[in-house]
Amino acid sequence: MARVLVVEDEAPIRELVSLHLGLEGLECTAVADGREALERVASERFDLIVLDLMLPGVDGISVCRAARGSPVNADVPILILTARREEADKVVGLESGADDYLTKPFGVRELVARARALLRRWQRAQAAPDGAGEPGGGRPDPALRPVSVHGIHIDPARRRVQVEGRDVELTSQEFSLLHLLASHPGIVFTREAMLARVWKGETFVTERSADTLVKRLRRKIEPDPAEPRYVLTVWGVGYKFADV
Ligand code: CA
Repeated sequence: MARVLVVEDEAPIRELVSLHLGLEGLECTAVADGREALERVASERFDLIVLDLMLPGVDGISVCRAARGSPVNADVPILILTARREEADKVVGLESGADDYLTKPFGVRELVARARALLRRWQRAQAAPDGAGEPGGGRPDPALRPVSVHGIHIDPARRRVQVEGRDVELTSQEFSLLHLLASHPGIVFTREAMLARVWKGETFVTERSADTLVKRLRRKIEPDPAEPRYVLTVWGVGYKFADV
């Protein structure tokens, strides 16, 4: 049975999440504060962590980082819950290693669907004999996840992109960037985060490279690159894919 750690200080939400994930056959451990969450992630293995960001004492971001740094939960899928709508928080959440995001208030069905999807991807990656996960862990490689959003279909296995039914040829970097942004609609990526994920540690790139790549990608996928519909600029922060 898959084990889920639910970290949420608001009792009604904590109970709701535990109840519905429990009904899905998952074994939930529910804790109300960040300090206890830190102890748990350091010592017990979980298959999924559902993590509220705003916690008394130790916040969710610290718990997230602690999980990623712990030998037992370095690769665990993490679904963040937050009441805050500020896009900077979403950026922080993803950069600290969370896999997905739910903004409160959320529907129970959406919660269950996201939790299931994370668990499935993870179990599949762990079952893959050649280690489909990222180096150093059994974490599912998000780069292999097909995405379909706003009429754009991205199939990483076939390296194929369709926009409104029309095939679009992208370079490897354009493809990686589109896949990254479209996998997280509405979530803002700073140029730095984009560089880290698309260029993966290459040294000779600057933030200007991110802007240039966005420009090239827009020319290929946007009906009107001057008035982007899919890849949107967030002034002073970075870029995001149009929210769903
Ligand atoms: Ca809270």
